[in-house]
Amino acid sequence: MNEFDFNEPDLLDQDLRMIRAQVRRFVNEVIIPQADAWEQAGEISRDLFRELGRLGLLGMRHPVAYGGSDLGAMASVVLGEELSRCSYGGIASSILVHSDMSVRHIADRGTHEQKIRYLPAACAGEKIGAICVTEPHAGSDVAGLKTRAVHDGDWWVINGSKTFITNGVYGDIYIVAARTDPEARGSRGLSLFIVEKGTPGFSVARKLEKHGWRASDTAELFFDDVRVPADSLLGEEGKGFYYIMSTFQNERLVAGAMSVGQCAKAIELTVDYVKSRQAFGKSLWEQPVVRNKIAWLAAKSAAARSFVYQCAQMIDEGKDNVREVSMLKAYACETLQEVVHGCLQLHGGTGYIIGTPIERMARDARILTIGGGATEVMLEEVAKRM
Ligand SMILES: Cc1cc2nc3c(=O)[nH]c(=O)nc-3n(C[C@H](O)[C@H](O)[C@H](O)COP(=O)(O)OP(=O)(O)OC[C@H]3O[C@@H](n4cnc5c(N)ncnc54)[C@H](O)[C@@H]3O)c2cc1C
Repeated sequence: MNEFDFNEPDLLDQDLRMIRAQVRRFVNEVIIPQADAWEQAGEISRDLFRELGRLGLLGMRHPVAYGGSDLGAMASVVLGEELSRCSYGGIASSILVHSDMSVRHIADRGTHEQKIRYLPAACAGEKIGAICVTEPHAGSDVAGLKTRAVHDGDWWVINGSKTFITNGVYGDIYIVAARTDPEARGSRGLSLFIVEKGTPGFSVARKLEKHGWRASDTAELFFDDVRVPADSLLGEEGKGFYYIMSTFQNERLVAGAMSVGQCAKAIELTVDYVKSRQAFGKSLWEQPVVRNKIAWLAAKSAAARSFVYQCAQMIDEGKDNVREVSMLKAYACETLQEVVHGCLQLHGGTGYIIGTPIERMARDARILTIGGGATEVMLEEVAKRM
């Protein structure tokens, strides 16, 4: 199959171009041959994390002193795009939650002791990270979360529950948002904690069965008088909401990168399919309506991708980016829906059959307009800044 690629942005330096080639090779040679087995098992192998760690791909946003390579947001974009080209959203999401969305909180605001304790193992893929914000009664409305952490001498005692947590079953390092000040209004009384697997009282209540992203494990978690040492607090007490929102910008950029990586793959699969499928005496590709449709989807995907790189540049330059990143999260993830469903349509009945890549991609894509900030919530963030 001929690969479908957008032009390489001039913004990428030689190192990032090499990283792209490295990830693409890794996806083709290591991930794809094992992906169906992981999809069936509902989990990816821990060896995959170790192999990615050995290649230096898990710590690209973490400081050099703690095992990372301290590259900028462009590195996250390249990793997100290329992993997503594997066409298994669950594999890409599990890795990216670890590399970019969870232990990032330790890299950004941990103490030296916290960084030394967790980051080298995370960069090496020995320990897997999870981010625990969502609760049964608070998803989009982060300020409404109810999990409680109470100070008790040299300890914090955590009680509550979380749901929809990626890497929830197989994680080792859980970044947990909890309310530390019940008197403070809404967003003000939240703090972040590091909870390690195996801490008494901390359990996986249930592994969840999902519509898509089936290779990633997703869980409900339960905290029953979980005692963690006082130095498990991340950053300052009461600043949890602010920390979540600031790390969300990177998460949303990565969601944009995942979307455009998946768009490219869906278009690649579809061009290949319609060129080989014969109907009415010629290939589907030779029907102007079909090729026109694919060209239109490619144009929209290219626009979304340019916006991904623009937002990455804004983040790397330290510019205020909340409005643009919120636009990007909405636009790129919605564009992906149009692309995967347009591509599925052109696969005809084949695209509706379980086991075809485009069928899986359509299921996997669905979560991206919901998770990490639903489209409506993102557009509200944009409107507030207009
Ligand atoms: C597979 C999967 C993996 C996930 N991984 C994680 C994870 O690792 N960590 C974590 O903390 N969470 C995770 N989540 C949770 C995810 O971020 C939430 O599902 C998301 O934030 C939406 O919250 P909710 O499901 O409670 O929906 P709700 O907040 O109940 O919203 C439901 C719908 O209402 C609409 N809506 C909500 N608010 C508004 C508004 N203000 N204006 C207009 N419309 C609105 C939107 O359409 C939204 O989809 C995951 C979810 C899934 C399904």
